[in-house]
Amino acid sequence: MINKNYCVTTTCFPIKGFLRTAIYDLPKATYEFVPNAVHDFLRLLSQKSFSQIYRNTTEENKTYLSEYFQYCLEKEYILEIPNEINKKHFPKLNLNFEFPSIISNLVIRVNKDLDFEKIKDILVSLKCFNIQLITDSTFDINKIEQYLDVIKDIGLHSIELIVAYSPGINYELLTNKYKNIAFIFIYSAPVNKFIKRHVLGLQQIFTSKNKFEITHIKSLDFFNVNITLFTESQLHNTYFNRKLFIGDKGEIKNSIESPTEFGNINNLKQPDDILKIINSIEFQKYWFIHKGIIDVCKQCEFRYMCVDNRIPLQRNEKEWYFDTECNYNPYIAKWRGEKGYKTLSECGVTSNQEGFKLNRKKINTINKELWGD
Ligand code: SF4
Repeated sequence: MINKNYCVTTTCFPIKGFLRTAIYDLPKATYEFVPNAVHDFLRLLSQKSFSQIYRNTTEENKTYLSEYFQYCLEKEYILEIPNEINKKHFPKLNLNFEFPSIISNLVIRVNKDLDFEKIKDILVSLKCFNIQLITDSTFDINKIEQYLDVIKDIGLHSIELIVAYSPGINYELLTNKYKNIAFIFIYSAPVNKFIKRHVLGLQQIFTSKNKFEITHIKSLDFFNVNITLFTESQLHNTYFNRKLFIGDKGEIKNSIESPTEFGNINNLKQPDDILKIINSIEFQKYWFIHKGIIDVCKQCEFRYMCVDNRIPLQRNEKEWYFDTECNYNPYIAKWRGEKGYKTLSECGVTSNQEGFKLNRKKINTINKELWGD
């Protein structure tokens, strides 16, 4: 093993968090947790040969090194390559994010007076192929078909419907008629249940007793490992980037959570007028606020798979923070509700307008109690 040649698989990315690393396997769309030492080993192996690393490792650490090596080989995080092949023939994946549309997702709070012909023109003008329609209980859901008919021939990739429960509506007929409906979520329903399931997660219909409300709760169920999200999240905020929201009065915003309005679609003379708004620096204020420059998230192993709808707050030119806490604490690798969970302040972490502070001694003591040495 020592004299053989190995390279690190270029499509697997070990993402180091404060306490542990998640290895993202982009082609397999999976991830798994490993100790941070495995991250450091893989990083070293991408620069040096295994024999060099082995020689420079102390006797007592050689056992760990061999274990990490075997593990990474079994998992195909590293590959044996012929000795005459140089590692440079396995170039790093290009992580530049390029996207063909100015807006990737349009979210609309639908009302009965919405001019859907205008919406259609805007979608075409922006080359936007994904739309989410949100209705409230005052909206006559039977009218949704009229809207869907207007946009049915413009090649949308996905339509998501978030609708208030109203009895006697057959949503399956809707998914049968419009094959690009990705899912229908019916809120304020009498029961929680799946009306239609699909093995690939397409065209699902489910009802929920919950009301429609904006939450910031994260869950592993909503995390995704894929090349688009991974590359986008390197330098972009994956929630706000290329998103457009139109409210029920026609107000134009970056997202439903955004406080700032940028005009009204009812005042647009032609669909292209919206481009002036979207191309403004103010409209794109959050598009580039990626997790790498936000307190706490920058030390979280989920930062390239987590889509976060909290509005970042700016401390100075290079630093951002949140005024609400995520329900995952990366300093102890615990979710709120899990045994042993502690808040950031209980761990000695403060993040606010004044600055970011980390009490490493306190965190280490807590982690020793939680996880041992
Ligand atoms: S700490 Fe940040 S990156 Fe980690 S799960 Fe929470 S929001 Fe996502």
